[in-house]
Amino acid sequence: MTDVLLRGGLPWEPGATGRSPAPGPGARAPVDILVRDGRIDQVAPVIDAPGATVVDVSGQLVLPGLVEAHCHLDKTLYGGPWVPHSADDTLAGRIGNDLRRRAELGVPSVARIAALLAAMSAAGTTHVRSHTDIDPEVGLRGVEAVREAAAGSPVDVRQVAFPQHGVLVNPGTAELLEEALKSGVEAVGGLDPAGIDRDPVRHLDLIFGLAGRYGTHLDLHLHDGGTLGGWELELIIERTRALGLGGRVAVSHAYALGQLDEAHQDRLAEGLARAGVAIVTAAVYSFPVPPVKKLRAAGVTVACGHDGIRDLWGPYGSGDMLERAMHVAYRSTFRADEDIELALEAATHGGARALGLEGYGLSPGDRADLVVVPCGGPAEAVVVHPARTLVMKDGVVLHN
Ligand SMILES: [Zn+2]
Repeated sequence: MTDVLLRGGLPWEPGATGRSPAPGPGARAPVDILVRDGRIDQVAPVIDAPGATVVDVSGQLVLPGLVEAHCHLDKTLYGGPWVPHSADDTLAGRIGNDLRRRAELGVPSVARIAALLAAMSAAGTTHVRSHTDIDPEVGLRGVEAVREAAAGSPVDVRQVAFPQHGVLVNPGTAELLEEALKSGVEAVGGLDPAGIDRDPVRHLDLIFGLAGRYGTHLDLHLHDGGTLGGWELELIIERTRALGLGGRVAVSHAYALGQLDEAHQDRLAEGLARAGVAIVTAAVYSFPVPPVKKLRAAGVTVACGHDGIRDLWGPYGSGDMLERAMHVAYRSTFRADEDIELALEAATHGGARALGLEGYGLSPGDRADLVVVPCGGPAEAVVVHPARTLVMKDGVVLHN
């Protein structure tokens, strides 16, 4: 593999707070980055590397590969002809719509998933966590379709076995979740232990039991709001601590966190941080967004993703994680650069921590997964999200 020298880029490395020490444009010193054998070999003001392919990225922002921490690849209609949207505005309505039209529209489709992964890669996404439907009707077909599409893509795709139609209320699903984990699916999912399955204790016992037994991650959809959702978060924190699963558990959406009063939010933020439970937000439509700034200040990992991308749940989504970060920042009413930067952290390092990625970042020894954006600073990259100058995965330049 030929060495690649990125000349004169502005690397972005946020500190423990999720922000870089010197936010404004122009505050970073340009560096050269030498990539060798799929890893970052050196980062220095000037590197002399005879024989390396030199790419001039002077004055442009260099980010580690973008991390899509929550999407549903198996459901997508991306890449095909436009499909008129027909879901109503209720959760039950959207679930029903999804089920009804799955067969009719040929979902899951390997070709559509592959088209979406190609778009994600061109926009600098190097890692994806996809929640894949598991139920007695679809079985593991979604898992297999995502696997097949991912095998032909440079994007690192990890799946969550997702009981979209409930576990306890949908006999046969629990067994299929276990079958999915046995087949190598990286995480077990869950769905509104109270609101859908109507028995939070049994639901959580079942999915935490599976995560413990198979040594997987766990990432649960929690739409239940208010004090009910807050109580379910407490149950998740307790189980994560009791089973020593810190760093492997995430709660997606967690709308309740955006609805509770400040004192209740503070208490939960501290519990999530201590237990090592990550929060994943998509900041879609008018749904409540967890308090990103408060969570980060408390030390909670915050990641983000699109949720549905051009599927039966909604017609929106491009696969571009910088655009998604903009939605997170906008819905969080962030205006200051240093706040907007928190959304970029969620789309990069936050996602990497939530997924348990190793060797992630821009330091020597890290995997050479990176993206170059023609912007002078992180807030500009989020707000403008221009076409990427260069995308590299494992040291290979994919788009330039
Ligand atoms: Zn979702």
